[in-house]
Amino acid sequence: MSRFDPADLRSEATLADRDHETMTVEAPFTGDEFATLPLGDERDVETAFDAAREAQGAWEARDPAERADILLEFHDLLFEESGPLLDLMVEESGKARRHGYEELLDAALCARHYAYRAEGYLADESRKSPMPGLVDVEVNYRAKGVVGVISPWNYPLTLAVSDAVAALLAGNTVVLKPAEQTTYTALAALRLLREAGLPRDVFHVVPGTGPDVGESLVANSDYLCFTGSGATGSIVAAQAGEHLIDCSLELGGKNPAVVFPDADLDKAVRGLIRGCFTNAGQLCIAVERLYVHEDVRAEFTEKFVAAAERLDARAGDDWGVEMGSLVSADQLEKVSSHVEDARDAGAEVLTGGEALPEVGPYFYAPTVLTDVTGEADLHDQETFGPVVSVYGFEDTDEVVARANDSEYGLNASVWSGDAERGREVARRIDCGTANVNEAYAPAFIAHDAPMGGMGDSGVGRRHGPDGFYRFTEPQTLATQERGEIDAPPGVPYKWYAAAMKRLLKAVRDVPGIR
Ligand code: ADP
Repeated sequence: MSRFDPADLRSEATLADRDHETMTVEAPFTGDEFATLPLGDERDVETAFDAAREAQGAWEARDPAERADILLEFHDLLFEESGPLLDLMVEESGKARRHGYEELLDAALCARHYAYRAEGYLADESRKSPMPGLVDVEVNYRAKGVVGVISPWNYPLTLAVSDAVAALLAGNTVVLKPAEQTTYTALAALRLLREAGLPRDVFHVVPGTGPDVGESLVANSDYLCFTGSGATGSIVAAQAGEHLIDCSLELGGKNPAVVFPDADLDKAVRGLIRGCFTNAGQLCIAVERLYVHEDVRAEFTEKFVAAAERLDARAGDDWGVEMGSLVSADQLEKVSSHVEDARDAGAEVLTGGEALPEVGPYFYAPTVLTDVTGEADLHDQETFGPVVSVYGFEDTDEVVARANDSEYGLNASVWSGDAERGREVARRIDCGTANVNEAYAPAFIAHDAPMGGMGDSGVGRRHGPDGFYRFTEPQTLATQERGEIDAPPGVPYKWYAAAMKRLLKAVRDVPGIR
């Protein structure tokens, strides 16, 4: 039996003691049954929250260094168990092994990052006093309580655990609902966390559908993290609002890349092939709009199309596979219809533009389009597949305006031989993460810096201090050490007000007071 056999992994899930309905999970490479998944409902969510709430106080009371040790052990276990874990991820999600490895790296590095910083983040902070010498001000941080996480199928490991890791290190307990398609990867990660020393009731996974489990998960959470589609994100945010809890939402993107004529074109081609086709384009920060300066458009496009055609897209679990399958028949239908619609609206398909049934039931060819018009759905809407549109541009202001002509604002990429010029342009693009001379990875794995979206791409940020403090309740603690906030006894208020006026005007610019 494999280390992460689905039937055996079910024991890691939190399901109340009764019979559960099940659904069949398909292996995307073949369309055959991969496993059955028991489906929980609000009774299972209640069970998980009762246990998580009970465990939270003791977990928060632990020395933060002890919590960090567990997460560092998790970091090591991810690498030690990477073979069977990647086998499971490839089979369950249909992704290429190397793309599974990228998310394993991200999960491990995110755990390490927060393990080394959580104690410092949680330390009491002294803040500027409103009345130096009279009042002392500090801020202390406590955990929110029980954090709910709803995660998607495209990055089933890192998007299931990385938010949770920061929440756990801040002293919260966690209840996670992974996407139905990829629940077993989340359960495998949970097994490794428990083997690393995480007490069982500190982290629960409740399998089930979005409406059945998601709604009660939001209703019971003290904070909610959601990653997924904009449509579901706004339902979840409305429910969070109803329950007066805060949430962060990481949603879709229609991410632009801009290639200037002084860019190293071969490097840009390699990087943008990764940027467009990693995980078969099922990546919220993938590039879907490619703006190439007219001086190099023909040369770039020829090289890019040739590289897309060379991609080794195949249903295999070896490291050589460069692009895997789409996750499901629904996803294949969505991607195919986007491309057909663009074709009908006048787009030219430079390569791809078709499913690859001889490779696997849900494979779609790496696709490059040109002459995409504003009437095509994929001009503005996210495709979430291996499809990119190439547009020409001549002028920097024009390309910035076109990059910003989107409801989304998640990620952007700028390619130039002059990194400072690249940074200047990137700063003008409305997006939460921007990369110069790479597509998406450097900003995403910069765990010390915030990651998230502007506009319809989301609310809030993961990673960095912002991604940690969202899981805390800050308390401002002020101590009146001398005097009172009033006129001294016996002094008429009128005199006090006049004296304050003179004093405050005199000290307005004094360092240490201002
Ligand atoms: P997709 O359409 O690509 O599956 P979703 O945004 O619907 O993307 O899914 C992301 C996550 O949200 C999944 O875990 C899914 O089960 C969950 N989900 C779907 N509908 C709801 C809902 N009404 N409430 C809460 N979670 C939901």
